[in-house]
Amino acid sequence: MNEMEKIESILMTMKEISKCTNDFLFIGDIVGDRNVFLGDYDKDYALNDEQKPFICAEELMKIVHPQDREILQKEITDIAEGKKDFHNLNYRWIKRNGQIAWISCRGTVLKDSNGKPQFLIGRVSEEALARLYNPLSGLWNKEKLMEDLENEIPMNRTKYLMLFDINNLTAINLTFGRTYGDILLKQVAEKIEQTKKVSSVYHVDHKNFIAVIDSYNEDEVRNVFNEITNQMMGKCTFAASALPLDIDVFNDSTQVMDALSITLARAKNQLENSLEMFSKEEIEQRVREHTLILELKKSVKNNFAGFYLMYQPQVKSETYEIHGTEALLRYTSLNMGNIYPDEFIPLLEKTHLIDKVGMWVIEKAILQYREWKKENPDFHMSVNISVIQLEDPHIAKKIIALFEKYNVSGRGFCIELTETHKIHEVDKIADILRSLKEYGLQISIDDYGTGYANIAYLKQLEIDEVKIDRFFVKDLKKDTYNYNLIHNILQFAKQNNIRVCCEGVETVEELSVLESVSPNILQGYLFDRPLKSTVMGEKYLYETEEYKTHIRQRERICQEVQKQSFLKLNIQDVLINNGVGIWLIRKDKATDACEMYIGNAMKKILGIELDYTVETCYEYWNERIHPDYQDKVKLILEKMLQNPRKRYQIEYPWKHPQLGYIMLHGSGMCVSDSNNKYVFEGYHVILEDVEDV
Ligand code: C2E
Ligand code: CA
Ligand code: CA
Repeated sequence: MNEMEKIESILMTMKEISKCTNDFLFIGDIVGDRNVFLGDYDKDYALNDEQKPFICAEELMKIVHPQDREILQKEITDIAEGKKDFHNLNYRWIKRNGQIAWISCRGTVLKDSNGKPQFLIGRVSEEALARLYNPLSGLWNKEKLMEDLENEIPMNRTKYLMLFDINNLTAINLTFGRTYGDILLKQVAEKIEQTKKVSSVYHVDHKNFIAVIDSYNEDEVRNVFNEITNQMMGKCTFAASALPLDIDVFNDSTQVMDALSITLARAKNQLENSLEMFSKEEIEQRVREHTLILELKKSVKNNFAGFYLMYQPQVKSETYEIHGTEALLRYTSLNMGNIYPDEFIPLLEKTHLIDKVGMWVIEKAILQYREWKKENPDFHMSVNISVIQLEDPHIAKKIIALFEKYNVSGRGFCIELTETHKIHEVDKIADILRSLKEYGLQISIDDYGTGYANIAYLKQLEIDEVKIDRFFVKDLKKDTYNYNLIHNILQFAKQNNIRVCCEGVETVEELSVLESVSPNILQGYLFDRPLKSTVMGEKYLYETEEYKTHIRQRERICQEVQKQSFLKLNIQDVLINNGVGIWLIRKDKATDACEMYIGNAMKKILGIELDYTVETCYEYWNERIHPDYQDKVKLILEKMLQNPRKRYQIEYPWKHPQLGYIMLHGSGMCVSDSNNKYVFEGYHVILEDVEDV
């Protein structure tokens, strides 16, 4: 068989095979650039409309997607040069109707007797890839991305992924029609694909695209986004997220996709074009939250395994005797260890698991309360309830049922309402609280001042107690905003018979300032931290050795507070209380003009009420010296001048604006001589006030 006969025979066989498959078979003469395609391609592709016996590569190129022509040409050249014995390429053909189809093209190279490439025989398959791309944009779909990611992820630290979400596509479809929306999607696909540094694009969902960016530089990645949004300006805007393909962060393609969509949620909260970069911490936080929620659910199902209560003492102010305790929920996860309430309570609220857990807390607290009340009938117990729990309209009934079940009176039991969420239906909540109050329970507003509660609301809900948060108690000093706030609440509370508990008292300093506004109840680390129930019992209820340590601790605090109140004495207060007024006089060397500076106590002594200047003050004091003593006082100042730092004293009658003549005792010295001024300083007392012993 000569060459020609050989080809004829191959073609015959191929024609027969072609009948049994939807693929298009082909044979190409590599040297002569003559190719034959077999199969029913005419229907969709304008590959050979003139029905020629052979077509050349140039004619094939006409139906190849422009973006793919270069790689196909390179493949053909490589084959012709003998660099490849096998052809395997996925690329896009364009149909008569403009639609794009991904085809899988495979073939084998046949060589001549000299070993030179002569023919390429193979098949083009549309079906092989049909499930892997989006027919509208002609881009690979999510399935293909997931396949590819498995290969990309190990190629650590060279690439970024960017997820695009078209804002308002639904609105665009509604306004301009679906056809317009489809054209827009195609344009977006094209623009992303044509952007520099973008190596491939996937149309992962109706209005979502993912681009693989050949860069590991965040600025370059941002530039890609800016370029695309600029190109599409006026047509649509994007929310986008981006992340580096980092093998240390992501184990598989699912994690990558999750991270992209979590980050995208952040971008979607913003208007207009916005790109958010993935943050490892955020994702870790989300993963932790997710895991913790699963753990909490398991625990609740498993009879509240891992939950337990701690009890923090609440003491009466001034005596620091025990008033009661606040039950505080704790959680230890089997896999994650001890978790802080600040972390797990919001999750319980978010998932509404708090409804069940909250009832469990109340039940445990009631049982404990029953025990401790036997020892101390005046003992109080507080439990926390979040506003979320009050969404259950039957909660009051459920709580009361528990008290009845255990035959415990509600008196002395207090519900602390924590306001992490705004109360929307105040009336409904007021009803719930009223039912509880009617049963004898007390209601407290927790964290007053940090949440939404205000004074009007305290009145409406007829509450029994407000708890002032540590935020206002810490670093408390007189004459500060916080001090005034606590002072005002206390005044209001006292007028309305509301008890005030200050919590988070950590130091004797805070306590001694707090005592000056006399709250009713105190709570904080200074007295004790939250304790296990056994320790709480031993230390505060039963007359054990531990009980004695608590008494000693109480006495120590009492002593320290007393000491503090001495130290806390304000010098100004001492001076005012003792009628000691301090003064300073400056005398100009050249003009003899005098200025007088005085403290608050001196102001009181001199009966000065109106505004005055340092000059008028001097005149005022000087003029009111009894005429017989004017010279004596002048002489004393002269002596002070001549003997700096030597103290002189004088007693003289002085005309007080309201009291008439009073006897003043003055003492002072000349302290400096600078800036052309002499400076004198000293103090005055009113002698009539002093009682001799
Ligand atoms: P809270 O009700 O304001 O509880 C007081 C918190 O302050 C407790 O934190 C307590 O340990 C802490 N604390 C007490 N004294 C001091 C102090 O002197 N200094 C400082 N820095 N902190 C002090 P904990 O136990 O971590 O509880 C945090 C929050 O979790 C509670 O704040 C409460 O809002 C919530 N919570 C606790 N148990 C429950 C519960 O059973 N149900 C509900 N709904 N919430 C609860
Ligand atoms: Ca509380
Ligand atoms: Ca609180």
